[in-house]
Amino acid sequence: MKITVAQGDGIGPEVMDAVLEIFGKAGVPLQYERVPMGREVVLAGDRTGIGESARRSVESTGILFKGPMETPKGGGYKSINVTARKLWGAFANKRVYRTFHGVPTPTGVRDLNLTMVRENIEDTYGAVEHMQTHDVAQCRRFITRPGSEQVHRYTFEVAARKGARRVTCAHKANIMKLTDGLFLEAFYDVAKEYPEIQADDVIVDDLAMRLVLDPTEFEVVVLPNLQGDIITDLVAGLVGGLAYAPSANIGDGICIFEAVHGTAPDIVGKDLANPTALLLSGTMMLRHLGLVEHAAAIETALEQVLRQMHKRPDLGEPIPAFRTSVFTERMLAAIDAVHIPDNPIPRLEIPPRTEPAMRVTPEPKQTRLRGVDVFLESGLPPKRVEEQLNGLGGWLKLTMISNRGTQVSPIGSRYTDCVNHYRARFETEGPVSQHEIVAQLGAVGERFRLCGAEWLREIDGAPGYSLAQGQG
Ligand code: NAD
Repeated sequence: MKITVAQGDGIGPEVMDAVLEIFGKAGVPLQYERVPMGREVVLAGDRTGIGESARRSVESTGILFKGPMETPKGGGYKSINVTARKLWGAFANKRVYRTFHGVPTPTGVRDLNLTMVRENIEDTYGAVEHMQTHDVAQCRRFITRPGSEQVHRYTFEVAARKGARRVTCAHKANIMKLTDGLFLEAFYDVAKEYPEIQADDVIVDDLAMRLVLDPTEFEVVVLPNLQGDIITDLVAGLVGGLAYAPSANIGDGICIFEAVHGTAPDIVGKDLANPTALLLSGTMMLRHLGLVEHAAAIETALEQVLRQMHKRPDLGEPIPAFRTSVFTERMLAAIDAVHIPDNPIPRLEIPPRTEPAMRVTPEPKQTRLRGVDVFLESGLPPKRVEEQLNGLGGWLKLTMISNRGTQVSPIGSRYTDCVNHYRARFETEGPVSQHEIVAQLGAVGERFRLCGAEWLREIDGAPGYSLAQGQG
């Protein structure tokens, strides 16, 4: 079976060569279609860093095994890694964190085997950002029911395969009641399909502290994208650093396996790059392809080699400097000593795709328009903005004004510092049409520079927008 390999930039070629040599020694029955991706593709004029040949190859093999890639700074370049995940619909990022005997950990944690799944597409990672005024930048955060259900279902499947008894959902639904609230609601909906697994949740800041105190408390954790990005690197630190953090980006058809670390420009060509993270990403890939025996044998060899290569403070032994070449030699020797039974030749069915799949859940029984939040630019104080908005007339009533998310009218505090960006909420008790809302926007636009608008909808009787102080 063929997979696509892109060695990447910086230390990418060093660690990829080491890993493929180890795979070769272990008799991994895969062929590698090598494609250019990353810096050289960007320099050749393709701003995505993913050339046509890589696209074609990945879409035919279904597997991309990649080294780290450099995203050029500034100039509007998007991260190649984020682009690849989105391009190929890799909706879940799975990271397995294990401690290895001999690898020093800052908190002395031992026997950790923690799986974290991060939603990989949504949240603020669409990078839908706008300057609302010259002083105010905004980023839109998308959390969707189909996207959340997809990542939660994958997480429970992973937990079931791992034999885990518990899955924990991390979130910030105490503050972001609609976005994180939807992520959490979808989690408990999906959990009903897995009654044999205990489902619980934790607020993400509490999770951060508890992971540092005792990460072995958790078995499988699922998180939204941004929170997951941060917390998973924290756990990488707990198991000894980025050199021990592998990852798999899982899609319905295409999966990408890569180390969490970057191109490590400070150690390129110095024989200092540790291939462990890429090797562990590789064994995740072998398991994904059903090459379980090869994965287990390589990991057994890795455990032995890491034990030899790291300091033994308990025995007062000196710390040998990590050398990529020494690591690779020792891995090749250790694999020689491990028996690897034959695996069946792997096969991968990639569901054919001719156009994007629509993921829409059944519609609610009733949705009703209630009004609109209008975002406008003004350097005037709240009272003056209120006076002008009240003078507009119209079908909808001004019910609230806020600034930076803090209510400033009709109630407010004289200690609130304001910027030149207001949200004015217009509502009505009775039904209101989209046409009337657009008319209201037009009226506000006569007096103020408009920055944006959000429709206020009631969905099956519940407000589909955050309530202001004193509302509800
Ligand atoms: P980095 O992960 O490259 O390096 C951080 C530190 O960790 C450095 O001191 C480095 O020497 C060390 N390190 C990382 N991997 C190591 C390994 N395998 N062995 C030994 N030491 C290792 O992060 P950075 O410096 O912030 O980013 C450098 C470049 O990598 C940037 O261009 C960034 O865009 C890119 N990047 C790519 C990926 C990816 O391709 N998945 C991920 C992160 C960063």
